[in-house]
Amino acid sequence: VNAVHHEALAGSLDEPSSVYLWDRREIEFLLWELFHVDRHLLGTAPCLQTTRSAVADLFSRAQEHATRLAAAFYKGDRDPARLQEDGNVHIPAAFLPLWEEHKRDWFWLRQQGDPIEVHDESRVRFPQIVIQLVTELFAGANAAFMCYAGFTPSAATVIRSRGTELQKKTFLPSLDTAEWDACFCATEPEAGSDLMAISTTASQLSGELYAVTGEKCYITAGMHPLTGNTVYLVLGRIVGGNTSPLAMSCFIVPRFWPDDSGRLIDNAVECTQVEDKMGLNGCANTRLVFGRTGVTRGYLLGNKPNAALLQLAMMMKKARIGTGAIGVAVSSSAYLHSLAYARKRVQGAAFDRASDLRAPRIPIIQHCDVQRMLLEMKAKVEGTRMLLCRISFHSSMIQQLVYRKQKLGENIDREQIEKHGRLALLYAPMAKAYISDECWNVVTQAIQVHGAVGYFRDRPLEQYARDLKILTIWEGTNYIQSQDLVRDKLGFGRQSLAMKDFEGEVQTCLSRRNEYPELTPEYAVLESALAELISTLETIQRYASVGRQLVISQFCTRFLGMFGDVVTAWNLLEAASVAACALRTSQLEDKEAEFYRGKLASARFFCHNILPSVASRAQVIRTAEHSFVHIDPADFGFST
Ligand SMILES: Cc1cc2nc3c(=O)[nH]c(=O)nc-3n(C[C@H](O)[C@H](O)[C@H](O)COP(=O)(O)OP(=O)(O)OC[C@H]3O[C@@H](n4cnc5c(N)ncnc54)[C@H](O)[C@@H]3O)c2cc1C
Repeated sequence: VNAVHHEALAGSLDEPSSVYLWDRREIEFLLWELFHVDRHLLGTAPCLQTTRSAVADLFSRAQEHATRLAAAFYKGDRDPARLQEDGNVHIPAAFLPLWEEHKRDWFWLRQQGDPIEVHDESRVRFPQIVIQLVTELFAGANAAFMCYAGFTPSAATVIRSRGTELQKKTFLPSLDTAEWDACFCATEPEAGSDLMAISTTASQLSGELYAVTGEKCYITAGMHPLTGNTVYLVLGRIVGGNTSPLAMSCFIVPRFWPDDSGRLIDNAVECTQVEDKMGLNGCANTRLVFGRTGVTRGYLLGNKPNAALLQLAMMMKKARIGTGAIGVAVSSSAYLHSLAYARKRVQGAAFDRASDLRAPRIPIIQHCDVQRMLLEMKAKVEGTRMLLCRISFHSSMIQQLVYRKQKLGENIDREQIEKHGRLALLYAPMAKAYISDECWNVVTQAIQVHGAVGYFRDRPLEQYARDLKILTIWEGTNYIQSQDLVRDKLGFGRQSLAMKDFEGEVQTCLSRRNEYPELTPEYAVLESALAELISTLETIQRYASVGRQLVISQFCTRFLGMFGDVVTAWNLLEAASVAACALRTSQLEDKEAEFYRGKLASARFFCHNILPSVASRAQVIRTAEHSFVHIDPADFGFST
């Protein structure tokens, strides 16, 4: 693959259509120099026939598609989805032809990303890490467009693995070809984070068939003209069934009901509102009412009552990682825009010559404070992308090991598979919450680097910010993710196997420090931050052991942030170590040497400027157990 630095998709920087910037060299570094995808995953079942050149070709084709997606980036925002007077949902006109292309040329790749996928034997099979990096291009080019049918492969996987034969026969053929799409319907006006408040109900009609009644809100791509039918996975409660708040069931509700002859008939699903919102305006976020104008029929998933949370767990994990992927994709482009702008914009003299009126005016990239912002953006984008790569690498390894065990009959150690699974699961809440918080910071910093220009609408930055903010809110708010990390993934620190696995991985990295004397101070900082993180988890465990859960709830988000910072520093240091090695080889081209030196700079910046705050947060958790938990809500003052 030829190295191409900082490619602009869709035109030059001076045209309003130039939206999405992407660094192909970065992707090659991840694939071939860090994760050694060729050594571990290509040429091995199930990717036996897949070669490096097939991967290169895939990226080149994806780049062309992303160019067309990027050309509709502004149009999607300026021609927003809305409910028309005739009751139909309008979506940006530019999305209609794009959908045809996407469905025809790329839907198969999204399907390969699912663990139990429909594999078309005529297609080359790619590992998850490759799929993740390709889909990053699409999400970065046009996140609003990518929301359409985004949930379809996961819904198909759920129905394939959990559905009854009738349900598979009814829905899978059309979902697998993307003739129909799917959405997830959990949220209701009174049930957001608290799904136990869900009040949608279902009364049994016969066998696995139910009549569903209720209202769901904000549903992404809930109604649109792109597909012939939409299948809703609806969370609800069975009338006369188990009354426990946890007793939630999942119903497969099509917008149009397919009758015995295959005709699609109205299923009484109304769209009563399309939200007017901050960003992702090309995507229709809908309020849906079931069962008001007639009977809305739906099948109980797997004909299993009260099993929704278990049935949908894998799908929710995937949605969280998908959220992080949008964050990295968009914030990466925001960083690259800032870099390009800072190189061109000339303003002021160097700090130490500010009083010299004859001092040359310099590009802002030479000012230390702009370098600070650019380095922070660079480090966060690279470190968080690597976190996603770790997850998809573990998933790729699971896919490979399971395939070899089940299909080739090889003797594979179960523990090996389980360890990959534990780590991928441990990282999932960070992929959602840490990345969405940090990518928001990156985008706001990108606006700052651009000065006034960043605030204007002929650059993509302000739209990036508006599009990205939702990532900290949907798929479980970031607090809910941090609670999941501390309580469910780490069991409040009680003998967490996942934490031991994680510690082992970082220790392996630390054990190689002598090979990289140029990074000695950074390895030392990582080692002490890891120790602080472990000691904080022990503190949390002590609070838990004496039943002081409320104290812990004050610290969950901060703990997740600390954890994310340690993971990011570890990632950057691994990358810097590879770069340090590469820099020792003579005859590096200038561009290559710059690239590798940049890796050392990212790691150094993050370790010395961001990572030290892990220790201060650890200190707060150790000593300030009553920092604010005792405030009476009235004491905030000001009431309306
Ligand atoms: C653009 C968009 C797309 C969406 N797409 C979908 C979709 O496709 N399907 C779907 O089902 N839903 C969807 N949603 C809904 C989304 O998942 C919810 O908005 C989200 O789960 C948060 O719920 P809420 O908005 O009611 O916030 P709330 O639950 O009211 O939370 C408000 C604040 O209180 C905090 N909070 C809440 N409970 C607790 C607690 N127990 N402890 C501490 N803090 C708490 C939250 O962290 C948050 O900061 C979408 C929303 C938007 C805006």
